[in-house]
Amino acid sequence: MYPLNLSFFVTYKCNYNCPHCSLNADSKKDLWLPIAVIKKFLKEGKQLGFRVAIFTGGEPTLRLDSLLESIQFAKELGYATRVVSNGWWAFSEESAYNILSQMKEHGLDEINISFDDYHVTFFRQLWNIEPLYIVHVAKASLDLDIRLGIAIIEDANSTINERFVINLLSQHLGRPYEAIKENVVIIKDVPARIGRGKHLPTDIIPEREPLVSGCEDIGMTYGIHPDGRITVCCGHAIFESDFYDVGNWKENGTTLREAIDNASRNLIYWWLYTQGPKKILKKLKIHEKTTHLCDACKMLMVDYKDILIEYLRGHRDEILVNDVLLNTRAQEIVKFVKEKRRKSQWQL
Ligand code: SF4
Ligand code: SF4
Repeated sequence: MYPLNLSFFVTYKCNYNCPHCSLNADSKKDLWLPIAVIKKFLKEGKQLGFRVAIFTGGEPTLRLDSLLESIQFAKELGYATRVVSNGWWAFSEESAYNILSQMKEHGLDEINISFDDYHVTFFRQLWNIEPLYIVHVAKASLDLDIRLGIAIIEDANSTINERFVINLLSQHLGRPYEAIKENVVIIKDVPARIGRGKHLPTDIIPEREPLVSGCEDIGMTYGIHPDGRITVCCGHAIFESDFYDVGNWKENGTTLREAIDNASRNLIYWWLYTQGPKKILKKLKIHEKTTHLCDACKMLMVDYKDILIEYLRGHRDEILVNDVLLNTRAQEIVKFVKEKRRKSQWQL
């Protein structure tokens, strides 16, 4: 659990209304993270050794000027910068180039665009044209030397999958995917049954992975939210429970340093980091089917919270020693923190 990424949920507003959206974003949620707050956390994060600034939502491009200002501020401080968007603005090659060139001028390193059956439906509704936006974004980002991540959410009924996207890009870019894969990365995932996603039928969602590993994201990516929350990860389950809150900048003026400190003293976070929610569920003898890692986490922290707390009360020392301290991942962290201290990047 070492902090590296600062993820700004700049708004919960979105011009789409995807049925799998874990944060229930829609056009009515007009809550925005003030730019002064973004800058304050970027400054503090820099002192604490955070390296990547992520601007996500909702749809962060709905206020382009503020987004550009945030990117520029982050870049000037030395962050690697990333924007996560649904790509609604890339309805033509010109529009994609126009937006991305502005982002590049302000210091953008990476754009992540959602492209799958869920998102494409809303793109079609908005513009009533073929959803070639991913091709437009790919062309512009290759021209402008911006890394592109294409996020594909797949279920059993999906027509858009990795193969489909590779073919589409190869056909329109006139070169094989192999030639661009250094700059264009495909990120596959399944929907989480959280937020609006909880209404999706379980049987259409394939199991993403054996789900026995620890969670990489917890304690590495801190989420700064427009409602004041500071969360210890950016996984889907954060929208189901305040268990993931490590502070509140609006109500209590929590600083990042305090948030990290709160996180580092929480045994359950360390347990999730080293063992992952699926293994913990197994330990608690809960054998319900889970698909996404964050589904398992939500099940643990919300649906079976009482069982979890009771187990923790009875097995605290055993968890701390066997599952956390003797775990190789935890030992790597100790090494990392020592190294950071040695370089004086953290004054902890
Ligand atoms: S999944 Fe993304 S694009 Fe879809 S409604 Fe949610 S925030 Fe908007
Ligand atoms: S599995 Fe849990 S801790 Fe990990 S990212 Fe998902 S919600 Fe966060």
